[in-house]
Amino acid sequence: MSIGIEPPTKKMKMILEDGDFIMKTIDKCIEDIDNSKNNLEPVLGDDFGETLQLVKVFVGITKDPKDLSKIVTTLNEKVPLKQLQHLKRVRKKKVILCPASYIIGASSIQQFIESTVMELQDSFQYFKEMDVPLTAPRLQKQFKEYNKIWSCNFHPNAYLEKLTSGDFFNSVDLNNHRTYMKMAFEVSRWYIQHSNIINSIDDVYKNINGAIVVDPTIQSVVAVSFDNRENNPIQHSAMLAIDNVAKTQNGGVWFETDYKSNEKLSVSDELLTYLKLKFPSVKFGSREYISKRDSATDECSKNSNDGPYLCTGYYVYLIREPCFMCSMALVHARAKRIFFCLDNIYFGALKSKTKLQTKSSLNHHFEVFTGFL
Ligand SMILES: [Zn+2]
Repeated sequence: MSIGIEPPTKKMKMILEDGDFIMKTIDKCIEDIDNSKNNLEPVLGDDFGETLQLVKVFVGITKDPKDLSKIVTTLNEKVPLKQLQHLKRVRKKKVILCPASYIIGASSIQQFIESTVMELQDSFQYFKEMDVPLTAPRLQKQFKEYNKIWSCNFHPNAYLEKLTSGDFFNSVDLNNHRTYMKMAFEVSRWYIQHSNIINSIDDVYKNINGAIVVDPTIQSVVAVSFDNRENNPIQHSAMLAIDNVAKTQNGGVWFETDYKSNEKLSVSDELLTYLKLKFPSVKFGSREYISKRDSATDECSKNSNDGPYLCTGYYVYLIREPCFMCSMALVHARAKRIFFCLDNIYFGALKSKTKLQTKSSLNHHFEVFTGFL
């Protein structure tokens, strides 16, 4: 039962000290979201950070610049730079020979050159060790900074420049995102008010999370959920949100009949009514789902708008940064963007403990935004 039982954050401790403060805190969060003047912040990989990561390399200072072309051709063939392809091999009279890590044990760079590229053994005046950028510049400002140290290859990307500009979402988009995040808090409030399970401080803490899934193409709420981990340790709100999305596509594995507390597993009429009253301008419901098999057998449906696979193209709004299990489930579900309000400093997998969205080994990458408060 240890899955997802998370120590309280500072904000949560405030909630726990006074039962009445639960509502105030949700109100305060909603108020702060409303009053926020900030744009949302993308949670990006370390290669976008301010801190320049460096790696040691050996460089050779050429005796005769006329030899540079031959030197570079030979080195590229026999000592390719592999992970350092973003570095230009030559800078003025200096040539990157190899990462310092290639020289191991008692061997020296001189010995390395003699044994690996013997034809270049007399091409250099001397060798020296240098720090150069470890990763490729992703942004224009990084490119300028990196070039002061060593010349780099760079492919400008207008989308990334905009993403990191601090001005990514326009006011209409921002208003939508804030509305859905406020709705996630209202889902939690509704849960706290209606749950008879919250009878201890620990329960309040464990269960205060809510999820809203939105189809941005029709600006409509597709699924709503909150934690049910006291009945089932893997039923965190994001897991249930994905399952509730699956139910809109003739799928889903967790059905109400499996549990005593029916109202937790999908949006009850009561909760839906509550949300509609709080957010009269928000639309609810998914696009009509047409399975691939149906569309293949039905000529008329071939050109229709085929339903998405789970969360493809969907935005997911969570009060708290999801844990590893939920984050991986959101990867598998192909969510397009994840928005969260509070950091989960002990178990968060999108900012606090790691950033799954930046792992190149995963086959799907969503964008992550925070900074609502
Ligand atoms: Zn989780």
